[in-house]
Amino acid sequence: MSRTATASLLPEVEAFLDREHGLIVGAGRPAASDGGLIDVHNPATGRRISRVAAGTAADVDAAVAAARGALPVWNGLAPAERANLLWRLGEEIERRAVELGQLDTLDNGKPTSESATLDVPLCASLFKYYAGWATKIEGETITPSGGGAFHVYTRREPVGVVGAIIPWNFPLLMVGYKLGPALAAGNTVVLKPAEQTPLSALRLVELALEIGFPPGVVNVVTGDGEGAGAPLSGHLDVDKITFTGENATGQKILEASKGNMKRLSLELGGKSPSLVFEDADLQAAIDGTFGAVYFNQGQCCIAGARVFVHRSVYEPFLAGLAEKVRGIRLGDGLDPRTTMGPLVSREQQERVSGMIAAGVGEGATAVVGGGTVQLPGLADGYFVQPTLFTDVERDMTIMRREIFGPVGMVGAFDTEEEAVTLANDTQFGLASGIWTRDVKRTHRVAAQIKAGVVWSNTYGMFDVAVPYGGFKASGYGKELGREALDPYLQTKTVWIDLS
Ligand code: ADP
Repeated sequence: MSRTATASLLPEVEAFLDREHGLIVGAGRPAASDGGLIDVHNPATGRRISRVAAGTAADVDAAVAAARGALPVWNGLAPAERANLLWRLGEEIERRAVELGQLDTLDNGKPTSESATLDVPLCASLFKYYAGWATKIEGETITPSGGGAFHVYTRREPVGVVGAIIPWNFPLLMVGYKLGPALAAGNTVVLKPAEQTPLSALRLVELALEIGFPPGVVNVVTGDGEGAGAPLSGHLDVDKITFTGENATGQKILEASKGNMKRLSLELGGKSPSLVFEDADLQAAIDGTFGAVYFNQGQCCIAGARVFVHRSVYEPFLAGLAEKVRGIRLGDGLDPRTTMGPLVSREQQERVSGMIAAGVGEGATAVVGGGTVQLPGLADGYFVQPTLFTDVERDMTIMRREIFGPVGMVGAFDTEEEAVTLANDTQFGLASGIWTRDVKRTHRVAAQIKAGVVWSNTYGMFDVAVPYGGFKASGYGKELGREALDPYLQTKTVWIDLS
């Protein structure tokens, strides 16, 4: 059975797909305890490409025990040895960019021009960046303000066993976001990939074991949210959950984690604004906003899908953006001509199509798209028509809810004050974009926007050294940069009376 519609796969990818995939618990590859399997589909064709184990609570128990057992081993290594392993894993990921990129494209649908050239290198750089931090985790000596003959110092200790629950929109990259800082800080991990996209995570952890990570330092329990994610987030021997995903799931994890007061990092949804002022470089704003809305099929928590434009440049901006949306070339992500792949799953295709229908039904105007699409030769793929709306009112479904698909909306504003009010008119606070040549305005508006990231004259820039994370209902616990280490460490204070 051919797994792809258009392109041939690397032999190592074919071999990986052909294999039985168990869980990764310690050094072993057990099947799920009840023997259940989950089908993994290629979203471009709808065909099954592999099967993975459907992990259960009993499997989570075993993986947590392996992670607990590996904690003294991992912390028994010199920091430089841990750094070396993280660095080498980064190199291995770089070396296998095409292989890992193909796996993510097959699993998620995104074009290989993105998976192999953006997701994979950024994932590798995360391991290399946090390799550097493994040798720089330091406490401090403190002189008590009340004086006295005390020697007081702090130790920065790992939190312990970390449960990492990740989504399907950046399957490989999210592994790096979680594992890089968690491992550098000395924790061990049980990783729960999304049920839609488990393949590259399994491959990455296999590679980690091959290059010498001690067994149990990273374990993988594949499976769905109820079967594997919920027992992990409720497990009394897990010290922290780091989660990226939707708000409703974040709330369940918050509930489930209260039994032992787990530490939590929650990177949740967004409904980010892009503001285009009258003095902006219009073409740059069009190009940047296009990426903000449609990159990764719009399946980005940072998607800057609410676009507000100064009335004086609204018409030319809209015309320019609409032209770019019409130019999107939908197709199989493995086809180099494709600029937008399918959505990740049938469920997601139906959900986003429902949102588009709601937009039309509630009276918004679809300037581009608005309907369904069937591609020749890919009739069973999970494609959605890229759509651009105008006339979207503040209470419409598409203005309030996160869409997580290739759907943008453009509205007009008259004053800077109005633009800021529109930008902040959401429960979320993940990211935002400001397009202007006036640097005073940039600083003024950036200070007023209630979001964790403000991009000006660019959008979606990420760097391993630069912290990222949300305000408001978009969650808490920064990722990337030095700040991302903090949620994986706890400070112990030691007082010694020297009198
Ligand atoms: P989506 O609905 O878009 O798939 P989710 O937030 O549900 O987004 O998924 C993100 C991750 O959370 C996935 O790995 C998923 O399996 C997991 N998950 C889903 N439900 C739960 C739950 N109740 N407890 C823990 N993890 C869950």
